[in-house]
Amino acid sequence: MCSSATMSDGYTYVYDIIILLGDIFIRLLKMVIAPLILTSIIIGISSIKDRAKIGRLGFKTFLYYISTSLIAILIGLALANTIQPGLGASKISDVEAYDTSQLDSPSSLLDILKTMIPENPISAFANNDMLSIIFFAVFFGIVLNLVSSKYSTSIRSGVESIYNIIIKMTQIIIACAPIGVFGLMVKAVSKSGFSIFQDLGLYAATIASGLSIHLFIILPLILIIFVRVNPLTHFRAMASAMVTAFSTSSSSATLPVTMKCVKDNVKVSNQTSSFVLPMGATINMDGTALYECVGVLFIAQALGIPLDASQQFIVVITALLASIGAAGIPSAGLVMLFIVTDAVGLQSDAVALWVGSMLAIDRPLDMFRTMVNISSDSVGAAVIAKSEGEKLY
Ligand code: ASP
Repeated sequence: MCSSATMSDGYTYVYDIIILLGDIFIRLLKMVIAPLILTSIIIGISSIKDRAKIGRLGFKTFLYYISTSLIAILIGLALANTIQPGLGASKISDVEAYDTSQLDSPSSLLDILKTMIPENPISAFANNDMLSIIFFAVFFGIVLNLVSSKYSTSIRSGVESIYNIIIKMTQIIIACAPIGVFGLMVKAVSKSGFSIFQDLGLYAATIASGLSIHLFIILPLILIIFVRVNPLTHFRAMASAMVTAFSTSSSSATLPVTMKCVKDNVKVSNQTSSFVLPMGATINMDGTALYECVGVLFIAQALGIPLDASQQFIVVITALLASIGAAGIPSAGLVMLFIVTDAVGLQSDAVALWVGSMLAIDRPLDMFRTMVNISSDSVGAAVIAKSEGEKLY
């Protein structure tokens, strides 16, 4: 018969292992972020070739991507500040150790721009300095197209190979999510009790409302104003892609269906759709952008660390960059959340615990935001095709 001391030692041991699994899971996720955004951005940016012809198309496409993602983020920002989903959230006890002076508060936009430029890209990479990595990747991607193909071809295929390997690693890590999430949930519940689930309800409702506003109001308005079409006609044309996005939670996996719907039903030319959609599947993620913004404000509110205007400005910019850098695979947006939390200096165990808890209910939100992501890509393809004088529907 075991003595009670041995039994409780046994429980502590099992508890420690469960907690360890959660910590390992978060470390694995963080491990892939830097190589993932470096390679995905280089591939995305460098895929814009044929400068003269593509210039005009590229400009319109980027304008569309950036503006719709920013609109989505601003909807998220407004909702998160009015609903304040994290305000009443129970405090996870690590927070006491939190030093709010750690929060980065750059004095100006120029300051943000300056610190984005790494003095040493290797050290930016080593320190997981996301903004600097993104800056380097964008610059590298642009210049990759300016050097002779003798040099660029091998680099591009090397980067593509690394990207595919990292994507596979990410998928494997995400497949371990149930175990990791279990560990993180045990830790979260042991620190704050079951009220954590109640807290997440308001967070999920905030994101769902934001996504609904974007999908049912903003995108239809864009269709009416710029494409002059009944939004229902467009969404009917895109129905099978939207269902696929919803069920796979992956923009990349949905891409073939999105392309088929846009070409066959919306009647966008091959040229426009093959320019706008593949890039859109990785770069243009309105739903993810909104989610990043609400997620970080929620965590900050739950930790009792209000973000001031300049910090919220950083959230807007980094949420945009994180959505650009997020891969089109399930839960990629959640991985990217750390970029935004890091950018405003929210770095503590409690942040990882909240992200872990958010992961526990991420799937339905991921399904919804992926559907918004590909819907925005399809609306973009229609807007750009229309502006090029194509006859649609
Ligand atoms: N699953 C999303 C997509 O593929 C990305 C995300 O996690 O937000 O579009």
